[in-house]
Amino acid sequence: MLFNILQETLPREELEALQLRRLQDVCARVYANVPFYKKRFDEIGIKPENIRSLQDLALLPFTEKQDLRDHYPYGLFAVPKDNIVRLQASSGTTGKAVVLGYTQRDLDNWADMAARSLTAAGVTRRDIVHIAYGYGLFTGGLGAHGGAERIGATVVPASGGATRRQTYLMRDFGATVLCCTPSYALHLWESAREEGIDFRELPLRIGCFGAEPWSEAMRHDMEQKMGIDALNIYGLSEIMGPGVAMECVDAKDGLHLWEDHFLPEIIDPVTGEQLPLGETGELVITTLTKEGTPLIRYRTRDLTFINPTPCCCGRTHRRIARLSGRTDDMLIIRGVNVFPQQIETIIMENEGLTPNYQLVIDRKDNLDTLEICVEVDAQLFCDEIRHLQRLEQRIQKKVKEFLGVTTRVRLLEPHSIERSEGKAKRIVDKRTIWLCGRARSPQKTSEHGTTQTIWGCLDEPLGRVYTAPVSSCWTQARRKWPGLSPQARRGRFLHQQENWRDRPTRVLRRR
Ligand SMILES: [Zn+2]
Repeated sequence: MLFNILQETLPREELEALQLRRLQDVCARVYANVPFYKKRFDEIGIKPENIRSLQDLALLPFTEKQDLRDHYPYGLFAVPKDNIVRLQASSGTTGKAVVLGYTQRDLDNWADMAARSLTAAGVTRRDIVHIAYGYGLFTGGLGAHGGAERIGATVVPASGGATRRQTYLMRDFGATVLCCTPSYALHLWESAREEGIDFRELPLRIGCFGAEPWSEAMRHDMEQKMGIDALNIYGLSEIMGPGVAMECVDAKDGLHLWEDHFLPEIIDPVTGEQLPLGETGELVITTLTKEGTPLIRYRTRDLTFINPTPCCCGRTHRRIARLSGRTDDMLIIRGVNVFPQQIETIIMENEGLTPNYQLVIDRKDNLDTLEICVEVDAQLFCDEIRHLQRLEQRIQKKVKEFLGVTTRVRLLEPHSIERSEGKAKRIVDKRTIWLCGRARSPQKTSEHGTTQTIWGCLDEPLGRVYTAPVSSCWTQARRKWPGLSPQARRGRFLHQQENWRDRPTRVLRRR
């Protein structure tokens, strides 16, 4: 079933002509109304009228999350504030939050695209949609809500939290669709089971899961446990919210990205160059119709590729592959790039293991160590110790074989890893890392819950260089150059850190 058959099946040429018209329009709008973009365009000597084909997109400057933070709260709005009817914000775990403004038309488009997405998953007006994404500034709850209402389904705005109560609501109201993060869905399922509720006996038939990357193996596991079709929904607040792209239940192979509203490209995250169709890289999106906060070439940090082959469902909008991770989620273990999803896939191949896992990274004697902690199910936990040990070794061997890193695997009893109501905390990084350009505080918490101590270099009267948490280094810099403006001091500080990095250092203070 299609929600908007005309738009969703537009022939490619018509779709691309529409994209070009809209791209030209959005460039003109941001150039005229957003000083940040006018400056960026002028710096590289480009005017909106220079955009004559979709290939010219590569001429335009990127927008990064930091740009949104730097212009907090309203600096990137492209319409007068009177026209803004809603504000949403993304979590501010790393400093300032990012604020997005929506006009009435933006909200209408959002509801339309969320409705298209849910319809692609098989949701109809006869469904009862239980939404366990958080409601509030986070776009998850309200986004899915708008789509389900637009379809005409019955919405249960449960929001996150009060997990046990949610399972009763699902049973009593007869939920047929569940929308939340995949890890929270599993948490709900577990909790329900403890209450004697079996999801397979409920009328539940569809799960729309998103807001965190998850593996194909986890999908199979969830579909079996819950007796549903588990589908992938993609979205991010900066671009709109949930419903930017969605998997269709017909193919269950990649997410249709609604190309009449969003122009996708894949770039090499290091060089920033566009990659050919089909190659994996960072997803970059230009919003084509957004009025409140239109963004040009927004770097999502999500890794995927575009699949240009036509889909059996008849939609002409291209598909992005299941996200393979985020550039800032990538772990570098002894120089090897590792994504949590790769390890998840290996874990899920083993019977008796649950998708509740955590990766603990540390550094011992200057070598990175990776420990994989996985919960086993109750039945397996009562098994012989020897059997568990063999299983640990088997996973260790598999990870070594496929990813080339040595790990330690620890099987834990059920419920030893803390559950989250939103995105799961998969990574505990205990390593200390060196100062990087934008760090200002000694603790860096990425949006995905990774906490790292950031170390800098301290000058010492005898000309020795010491390492210390970066806040101490800042204090020293302030004392050292009291007369400089903060910006000049920052420049000098970063320069000094660059120079000192490779000198032999001693740890001054370890916390
Ligand atoms: Zn399809």
